[in-house]
Amino acid sequence: MTTGAAGATTSSLAPAAVVVAGAGPVGLMLASELRLAGIDVLVVEQRPTGTTGESRAPGLNARTMEILDQRGMGAAIRAQGKPLSAVMFAGIPMDPHEHDPDWPDGWILPQYETERILAARAIELGADIQWSTAVTGLVQDERGVEVQLRTANGTDVVRGQYLVGCDGGHSAVRKASGIDFPGLAPETWWVVGDLDLTDPPSESQPFGFNDRVGRYQLSRTEPGWFRLNMMRPRPPEDPTQPVTLDEVRATMIEGIGSDHGLRSARWMSRWSDGFRHATSYRNGRVLLAGDAAHTHTPIGGQGLNIGIQDAVNLGWKLAAVLDGHAPDELLDTYHEERWPVAARVLTQSMGQTELVKPGRRREAIRDIFEDLIAVPETTMSVSAELSGLGVRYPLGDTHALLGRRMPNLAVTTAAGATDVFTLQHGARPVVLTFTPERRAAVDAALQGWAAQVDHVAVEYRPDERDASWHVPVFGDVAPFDAVLVRPDGHVAWIAPMSSGLDATALLTAIAHRPMTAPGAGVVEVHPATGRWQICFTTPRGEQRAELDLRRTATGWTGTYNGAPVTGLDVRDSALTFTSRVREPFPAKVTWTGTIDGATITGTAKTSFMTLPFAATKTA
Ligand SMILES: Cc1cc2nc3c(=O)[nH]c(=O)nc-3n(C[C@H](O)[C@H](O)[C@H](O)COP(=O)(O)OP(=O)(O)OC[C@H]3O[C@@H](n4cnc5c(N)ncnc54)[C@H](O)[C@@H]3O)c2cc1C
Repeated sequence: MTTGAAGATTSSLAPAAVVVAGAGPVGLMLASELRLAGIDVLVVEQRPTGTTGESRAPGLNARTMEILDQRGMGAAIRAQGKPLSAVMFAGIPMDPHEHDPDWPDGWILPQYETERILAARAIELGADIQWSTAVTGLVQDERGVEVQLRTANGTDVVRGQYLVGCDGGHSAVRKASGIDFPGLAPETWWVVGDLDLTDPPSESQPFGFNDRVGRYQLSRTEPGWFRLNMMRPRPPEDPTQPVTLDEVRATMIEGIGSDHGLRSARWMSRWSDGFRHATSYRNGRVLLAGDAAHTHTPIGGQGLNIGIQDAVNLGWKLAAVLDGHAPDELLDTYHEERWPVAARVLTQSMGQTELVKPGRRREAIRDIFEDLIAVPETTMSVSAELSGLGVRYPLGDTHALLGRRMPNLAVTTAAGATDVFTLQHGARPVVLTFTPERRAAVDAALQGWAAQVDHVAVEYRPDERDASWHVPVFGDVAPFDAVLVRPDGHVAWIAPMSSGLDATALLTAIAHRPMTAPGAGVVEVHPATGRWQICFTTPRGEQRAELDLRRTATGWTGTYNGAPVTGLDVRDSALTFTSRVREPFPAKVTWTGTIDGATITGTAKTSFMTLPFAATKTA
């Protein structure tokens, strides 16, 4: 970095549309997603080069494997490692295949191998990775972010239109952006490592349980290497100091009475039962993903998985906003969709972590849980949650698949036999139509949208065609003959078999703003201009607000407590708009109501809660 004559800083790095901090699995996945959409991306990573070399997250869950298949990376992952067919709850295995033979498998692979495959793909797609480059600070304005860097040669800056912090649990981006990271402080510590043992334990018992350390793992993961995961009977004197071989040895001897001839370790670390969750995944042009946004214990094996899933939720949204075809508010849906997923994972992980700790009382609860999760319905619902297959975003409820992941149906296109995931390799939204009639209607509706969305006519022959279609994980769903699959694989719009085509809804789902199908028009049938007094009751009591709606020559405008609302749509007797509120917590709120004379009644919905409201006309 140099300072020019006028005091302006100049950078040795070209500005990028998106700067990603951190080349861990999440940053690398995000970089690939952005490159697939043609966005120029700069990844800055504080490590000198390559992967971490740490095996820490060996479990890729079923949804992560589906996502990697959606991007054509599944085969590279499956070339090594082994299938993960069981789903673990606090170390208790469940087998969803017993009840659904089509249940997709996860995969076991050391994290450094996953990182190697993700890095190769990101680089192949043209991502620029600057190694030995750490983010130290940031300054954002309404056009972008100036990212301050520490490099091998000193300091530098780079400008991006957006900055995404994928820089792990101690995220410098999160701290510099001022986003809070509240949670629970650690109470208990575990040591973890890949160990070389001269006197290894029996391989038939990879997990053990005792009164001193609770449930522990000592299992052979690769020829010559054993993975240890064991609670320290006492907290470390200084948890900030690196783990030593002596600490591992002492923990093993105190915990299980033997160090099994511990000779060396190629990786050692420590984790705790601290839990933290960013209050927001976005502050203006700065966003967070992966461990930078949520940290929890590895019990249940979720961290890397939800991080990768964050990346595929965010990548296409950034690309659509940068491309200009989607409004900025689309980026708010990243927090709205992903925050609740991590909140649930934190709860799950917290519960599971308690169950692996030592103690007779916990053992009793654990026994009860073993019985409960053996009940088929519980096995399936807990497995759906822990394997990431059960996520449903709030994209509507008129069909069982809306908001859920699109299953990988085997289909035939004009180019031959294929499957849905293969059609998603380009990370573009895709409309699939299943009948010639639907194909023609969708073609007509999508005129002018070819740059934003693919339309593929497919043939699908399920075993039972008439009453319902059986799809893995969800079971029977109502047949459909057109579906919009978002780049992250979630269903954003669906047309039940032989229904009329709701082109307005399809276009709205593609454009992420209210759209009008060609020729439909917007009708005004009520006199809802003027000021309304909104009243709703929150956990903190009754709240009042001012809503001002005006009809202009070009459409409707509105303010909520003086600030402009977005997405305002008034037609027939229905009203929707989006606003930001500060109380009882800062949130984006979607208001949906019905106007009847001088009153509006409806619901105000945030990602946290839905509240009924009523509004009375005041002027
Ligand atoms: C023992 C253990 C077992 C685990 N098992 C599982 C499992 O089975 N399944 C699972 O899903 N998860 C598991 N996890 C969690 C998983 O490892 C993490 O959730 C995952 O690595 C998060 O990826 P990330 O890219 O968000 O962050 P990280 O992997 O932490 O990557 C962050 C990157 O950012 C870089 N960085 C940091 N600061 C800066 C900066 N200021 N500037 C530039 N770069 C920076 C770092 O060098 C790093 O490369 C486990 C974790 C542990 C410790």
